[in-house]
Amino acid sequence: MNIQENIKDIVTSLPDKVRLVAVSKTKPVEYIEEAYAGGQRVFGENRPQEMVAKYSVLPKDIEWHMIGQLQVKNVKYIAPFVSLIHSVDSLKLLQKIEREAIKNERIIACLLEFRIAEEETKSGMTEEEAVLLLDSEEYRKMSHVRIVGVMGIATNSNDNEKIRLEFRHLHDIFVRLRDKYFYGNNDFCELSMGMSGDYKLAVKEGSTLVRIGSSIFGERVYNK
Ligand SMILES: *Cc1c(COP(=O)(O)O)cnc(C)c1O
Repeated sequence: MNIQENIKDIVTSLPDKVRLVAVSKTKPVEYIEEAYAGGQRVFGENRPQEMVAKYSVLPKDIEWHMIGQLQVKNVKYIAPFVSLIHSVDSLKLLQKIEREAIKNERIIACLLEFRIAEEETKSGMTEEEAVLLLDSEEYRKMSHVRIVGVMGIATNSNDNEKIRLEFRHLHDIFVRLRDKYFYGNNDFCELSMGMSGDYKLAVKEGSTLVRIGSSIFGERVYNK
């Protein structure tokens, strides 16, 4: 496995406007250093404590993206440095991010996560829940979070047509929310969709951020 070559192959296949989030969860710091040496600066993690441990020993110009489900009690660990939280799935979580962003005197960029797959286990909001969030008084009062787009995970399947429709659905949600809540606001521009197995489909459906792990760093091995 050659991490730098894997990244180069993926990046050269992506249109200019699509950015690669190299998903380094479960992988050692040395793998990230190798990717970094090849020029990669954006990394995705799904556990706050693991992200903090890696952040503390790696170069400070890395952009850290939280891509996994985030518990309210863990926001404080990543709030000082996280670049983008992909997985905002409730008003309660967003309120906590707002409070921690204020404490750290920074503005934290967030994506609203939608459940586009049919698997019940996948997290994310429905469009109705997002509308309630965006219409709420609590959200309107926030000053230290910036919602910059949407995120979704497609069904784990070999059925390309099904996956394509799920990505298209997320794209439609993105357009509706943009036109209703972010009209004329260029910050709302990110569509985070696509992983190792389906990013080519996601790019065709308008992805701007692909989150790729195993195609870069190899399969993940979980103990337990
Ligand atoms: C692990 C993970 C990825 C990367 O998955 P690969 O199939 O290894 O590319 C992308 N997005 C999320 C939310 C993940 O948890």
